[in-house]
Amino acid sequence: MSTDIPVVEPLHSILPEEPLLMMGAGPVPIPDQVAKANSIVINHLGDTMAKVISQVKAMAGYVFQTQTPWVMGVAGPGSAAMEMAVANLVWKDTRTISVCNGFFSTRLAEMAERCGGQVERLTIPDGESADVIVVRELLEAFKPEVLTIVQGETSNTTHNRQLKEIAKACQEYDCRVIVDAVCTLSTMPLQMDDWGIDAVITGGQKGLSSIPGVSLVAFSEKAWDRLNNRPIPLSHWCYDAKLATRFWHEAGYHYTAPVSGLLALHEAMRLVCEETLEGRFQRHKVCSLSLQHAIEVMGLKLYVPESARLNSVVGIELPKGLSATEVCEHISTNYRVEIAGSFGPPIVRIGQMGEQCRVHNLFRGLHAFGSTFRDLGVNVDLPLGMAELENQLQKQKL
Ligand SMILES: *Cc1c(COP(=O)(O)O)cnc(C)c1O
Repeated sequence: MSTDIPVVEPLHSILPEEPLLMMGAGPVPIPDQVAKANSIVINHLGDTMAKVISQVKAMAGYVFQTQTPWVMGVAGPGSAAMEMAVANLVWKDTRTISVCNGFFSTRLAEMAERCGGQVERLTIPDGESADVIVVRELLEAFKPEVLTIVQGETSNTTHNRQLKEIAKACQEYDCRVIVDAVCTLSTMPLQMDDWGIDAVITGGQKGLSSIPGVSLVAFSEKAWDRLNNRPIPLSHWCYDAKLATRFWHEAGYHYTAPVSGLLALHEAMRLVCEETLEGRFQRHKVCSLSLQHAIEVMGLKLYVPESARLNSVVGIELPKGLSATEVCEHISTNYRVEIAGSFGPPIVRIGQMGEQCRVHNLFRGLHAFGSTFRDLGVNVDLPLGMAELENQLQKQKL
């Protein structure tokens, strides 16, 4: 036997002994039913899968608030759904406005540029929402064919509050609107048809509380017309929306679908429908606002002013002298709770998406969070914060 092959240390399980509570910016905890669905493999072209797909599309109609038939899944992260929406609707010289609030919305601009679009970036300062008046002026001046925007910018925790007005303005200018709702879908209102949105993107691992790696995109009829009549062939094969109809509309073969992930997504969406969107929005609002109050009462400062603050992910300013890495490592090692650092601003982030918005997770998460700052020498009032969380939850009746 050759002695050149390096000897591998015997491998032990790499799973943490005590499960971590995932309170970061995604992936989020998944319900047991979703985990169970994710453990099953079935024929990707069989009758059961055909039923699953038809139900996923029907449930997506409800969750996206749309009648469009052009709903499809993507085997890939939220970014793959972003790429699918952008690549199908933007080509060489497509005039595109990208509203850039931060890391993810800027990714949409980069994608549009890679597709050859003439991209005009509208950069919004941290802590502010995009203003429909400013967008209108740009629509008038630039006459774009496509606009990209994020509903909630996870990276710096801002919320584009005027999304509805912006989408409506775009329709007046016959401009197709692509909305990244990866962290917000099913956590707060989004009405694809009523607001006039042409493509909505979501991932599995955030608001929907499914697994990462299976995502959804929905195109309006107008968006479908545009991509169906594009003058330049699409260079993507996997992300070609027209090819994807083979699987999503004709029960045929495009590529082998992520069957387990689709079953998980089906289950996650079934739970959303069971809870109803109204119930879910209310749960997210109550949990996130209670957490925000409690963190402030404890003595820490939120990053974004209330007027532009996102509820799905809460950004907390780091006291001077502390790094996000230090805080995240401490809370994970000592309290088995995961939170997120950031891509840029001096903040740490706590997620309030899907299963993260449960009372028991809030208490454990906030206790770990406050204890971490106390351990690291910050003057926080942990008991007062915990009491405020309870008071707020009681007041809002959750
Ligand atoms: C997480 C996120 C993405 C990217 O999702 P991936 O699954 O990591 O590709 C895109 N946009 C927003 C708003 C997000 O929160």
